[in-house]
Amino acid sequence: MKLHWEPLTLDLKTTFRVAHGASEQRHNVLIYLDEGVGEAATVPYYGETREGILRYLQSVPDLGKDPFDLDAVLARRPAGSRAARAAIDEALHDLWGKKLGQPLYKLLGLNPNKLPLTSFTIGIDEPEVMAEQARAAKYPIIKIKLGSEKDEAIVAAIRSVTDAKLLVDANAGWTRERALKIIPRLVEYELELIEQPLAVEDVEGYFWLKQKLRQQNVDIPIFADETAKTSHDVVKLAGAIDGVVVKTMKSEGIREALRMIHTARAHDMQIMLGCFIESSVGVTAAAHLAPLCDYADLDGPLLIKNDPYRGLKYDGAQLTLPDGPGLGVIRK
Ligand code: MG
Repeated sequence: MKLHWEPLTLDLKTTFRVAHGASEQRHNVLIYLDEGVGEAATVPYYGETREGILRYLQSVPDLGKDPFDLDAVLARRPAGSRAARAAIDEALHDLWGKKLGQPLYKLLGLNPNKLPLTSFTIGIDEPEVMAEQARAAKYPIIKIKLGSEKDEAIVAAIRSVTDAKLLVDANAGWTRERALKIIPRLVEYELELIEQPLAVEDVEGYFWLKQKLRQQNVDIPIFADETAKTSHDVVKLAGAIDGVVVKTMKSEGIREALRMIHTARAHDMQIMLGCFIESSVGVTAAAHLAPLCDYADLDGPLLIKNDPYRGLKYDGAQLTLPDGPGLGVIRK
């Protein structure tokens, strides 16, 4: 199978700000394995750059001839760029489906009519600006990015203009003490869940937080995102969290994302399927797993101006998977 690639620069519709920083462009890479396609998204806080991804791709040896022996092909990927490893996995899944003439969700035995609604994400800004975006968005599920001094004012302002289900994502922006102080105040605004309250490496902190919140009778599902990259991380967090955010760029592809989902279910966790700033290639690849998930946060293509592919369809928050073979994505 022949590996080749193409840089993909995505222009964002508006500057996107989270606790880690702000961005206006993303320098991703499309990766092809024969006629299969995948996308490597640069995630700045994981230290990925396009240059690093391109260097990694130069180092990939022959991946073999048999696209049906998924694990053997994937095991030939050298260690290195998480995003590039993910994109190779996506391209392999696309190729697999194309060879068999079937959409990926069918090969995985999943029902495409069982997709959760997607949430719409509002980046960090002044409380009144975020509230205005929440009001204008008209989505039934809104994800609010937090991690500034104005967290409570932001949630209060948004709650005052919408009855939508609210998810909050601190993106590792709080200390343990700050999390313990702010979470009981935020739950007054009827939130569905709180995502990644603590620092990325603070696994112990999740056990600490769970116990402290329980002592105060504060009952709110806590999800891990940045701290939970693979099924191994799910095991480490078992008992401390209520849910996990699965993203193919973290798990290095669909194969491990699937393992992560099953591992999380075995620990009675809920699943949110997420994405980074990715085009329809990367987001549609992930979306084939959406029938297994409770929440979908797949608004990547809605945030960019120049998506080169068509794939997952959006009708407001309603998602429809394409039914073409493999990922089902088509170049515009
Ligand atoms: Mg998150």
